[in-house]
Amino acid sequence: MAPEADLKDTDRCVMCGLCLPHCPTYGLSRDEGDSPRGRIALMQGLASGALPVGERLLGHLDRCLECRACEAMCPSEVPFGRLMDATRARVEPHRPRSPGSRRLRRWGFGLLRHPRRLRALARVLRYYQRSGLQWLVRHSGLLRLLKLAPLEARLPHLQRPLAAGRHSTVGPARGRVALFTGCVESVTGADTQRDVLRLLTRLGYEVDIPRGQGCCGALSQHNGDPATAAGLARANLVAFDTTGLDAIVSTASGCGAQLAAYDALYGLEHPRAAAFAGKVRDISTFLAEQDWPETLLQPLPGTVAVHDPCSLRHELRQHRAVYRLLGRIPQLQTVTLNATGACCGAAGSYILTQPAMADALRQPHIEQLQALGVRTLVSSNIGCALHLAAGIREAGLDIEVLHPVSLLARQLRD
Ligand code: SF4
Ligand code: SF4
Repeated sequence: MAPEADLKDTDRCVMCGLCLPHCPTYGLSRDEGDSPRGRIALMQGLASGALPVGERLLGHLDRCLECRACEAMCPSEVPFGRLMDATRARVEPHRPRSPGSRRLRRWGFGLLRHPRRLRALARVLRYYQRSGLQWLVRHSGLLRLLKLAPLEARLPHLQRPLAAGRHSTVGPARGRVALFTGCVESVTGADTQRDVLRLLTRLGYEVDIPRGQGCCGALSQHNGDPATAAGLARANLVAFDTTGLDAIVSTASGCGAQLAAYDALYGLEHPRAAAFAGKVRDISTFLAEQDWPETLLQPLPGTVAVHDPCSLRHELRQHRAVYRLLGRIPQLQTVTLNATGACCGAAGSYILTQPAMADALRQPHIEQLQALGVRTLVSSNIGCALHLAAGIREAGLDIEVLHPVSLLARQLRD
């Protein structure tokens, strides 16, 4: 994007400050540079050439979660997410990185481009987790010696990914949907995706899992690498034939938000982008729109906490669908975790790049869970679910974290 377009968008900010109370990083640091208004001023300075790329400036930009809470409530409709993506791409070539950090970044983004490599790595790590090797390594003191203990503790439970192909309905078919399985989600959320298959086929939908699909591109897009994001999007646009499809459903709202933006991002250059983006639905939204036999679900007396991921609340703006969907389970009550909508700190790769901030932002959520005394938490985004689950474990709480759809699938009557 040309700097002129960014300057035009930054000019829309009237500096009213209404976004400040909604910004989680400003809430923590009380530093204007960590607020949306301050970051917009910095991005304006960079786009006009008035400000050079410096360490302090990069720090303010890097601490932004891209949660888009500011954008959702800005009366001047400043497109903050688009501006931040463009700015990160602009500063990336000038960023001082050590050769090791450059190699790690290339390797990490390379994995997203090559789903087979990602799955091969996940297979090895799954073996490590299941063979008893993990127990041995954790008790050997090796991780502490290599200073790898905090990183290893964040390793999620890895699952066998779903194979490509078509899944038939249990009874007569009423439609057909395609399931987006993603990259990291395909090995950390595969069990949720199996629950989605059970629910959809039971409701009369054939489910396609297209071959050749891969990462949605969100991580690259938000981390200064729009070229890789565009390449990933092109592969998905080729893999998904939208003809005859009722919807393309996604189980991670972070991916869903990126897929839904394909038209805005690539509509001018790819003939399939508009049709593709028009079919994208978060799985909870799609299921909440369907007619269900009243006797399909067994009652579940009790209360579950619901976490609204920023991508579902501020980007897709569909978080209410989760409550409507859970409302189908007889006797179940819901309570919102952090009703102000503040980010939990997961924010894609933020947990890796800003671990201290990510943990500080998660803490109020953990304290609220403790006060609520619930035994179950549902979240529609895999990154948030893993981050919150790690905090729950560290706090010694006995709370299960799962996708809302998995809770529904458990209540299916035979
Ligand atoms: S981003 Fe929007 S809400 Fe925030 S200061 Fe600018 S105009 Fe006001
Ligand atoms: S995207 Fe989130 S963290 Fe970034 S400035 Fe806006 S509210 Fe703050």
